Amino acid sequence: MTPIRTDWTREEIADIYNSPVLDLIYRAATVHRQHHDPQEVQVCTLLSVKTGGCPEDCAYCPQAARYHTGVKVHKLMEVDEVLTAAQRAKDSGSSRFCMGAAWREVRDNRDFDKVLQMVHGVNAMGLEVCCTLGMLTESQAQKLKDAGLYAYNHNLDTSEDYYGDIITTRTYDDRLDTLGHVRQAGISVCSGGIIGMGESHNDRIGMLLTLSTLPQHPESVPVNALVPVEGTPLEDQPRVSVWEMVRMIATARLIMPKSIVRLSAGRVRMSVEEQALCFLAGANSIFAGDKLLTTANPETDQDQAMFQTLNIRPRKAFKDAETGVPAVQFEQIPL
Ligand code: SF4
Repeated sequence: MTPIRTDWTREEIADIYNSPVLDLIYRAATVHRQHHDPQEVQVCTLLSVKTGGCPEDCAYCPQAARYHTGVKVHKLMEVDEVLTAAQRAKDSGSSRFCMGAAWREVRDNRDFDKVLQMVHGVNAMGLEVCCTLGMLTESQAQKLKDAGLYAYNHNLDTSEDYYGDIITTRTYDDRLDTLGHVRQAGISVCSGGIIGMGESHNDRIGMLLTLSTLPQHPESVPVNALVPVEGTPLEDQPRVSVWEMVRMIATARLIMPKSIVRLSAGRVRMSVEEQALCFLAGANSIFAGDKLLTTANPETDQDQAMFQTLNIRPRKAFKDAETGVPAVQFEQIPL
């Protein structure tokens, strides 16, 4: 069994990242099988509960108020609307429901109280509840935990060195502070990044280095391919190749063997064969539903067909393993 290490060096990660790609996939697939059931993929649904109008300047994000991207600004959804969406996600096979709000940071106000009610309600449905709400204080993290939050997503986005080229309205340390508050509150950590933003291979290695040398690896590591959106500073970035995604996923799998590695944004442009390569390289989580916050994602029935073709089944909620609640299953659909 590959040991779990948090003392990786940049050189070690670079050696893995730069190894011949088929060898890299083979090694990652081997380690993946030591720590995970390769037939299982976690299915998460992401819902934007508050959209657009964000004061931050993340260069990839259509929800930043300063870019003219045509994203419709929506105030925070009502609790019952969110719970209806969560039930729908559960019925179609999701075991994790993630709620995203385009905020710089959480404020202690009525909107946060509403989010706490949403968390409580989704948790009561037997789903793993995840939120991505921006920066959090220690006490806010604790309130979310007390309401039943299972995981918190807060991506590092890129390397510390390249961060200032992508975002200037907060620092890398702000990011790490929030991850620390989440960890301290006993919430599962979800943190990864985006490739295809003009960063170098060294930056990708740098981001993986930071993630894999945190005191404890994030339980989930999303690997996103930039979906360039018109009106954002990164609108003209070329598409990353599947081999770049595979290299990131396989390296993440090898250096963080127990973590769930999520094939996230950019999946809509991938064929089933390309996604299968990513699963072989160690990805074992996807977002389901036709939207990822504001960008397109494959339709749920396309995913169901892909799962059948690849003999993959959705992973039951981690918390179900503790409670004995039966796994959710996709309906069997004829090919
Ligand atoms: S990524 Fe998040 S923090 Fe950055 S602009 Fe978009 S919504 Fe705001």
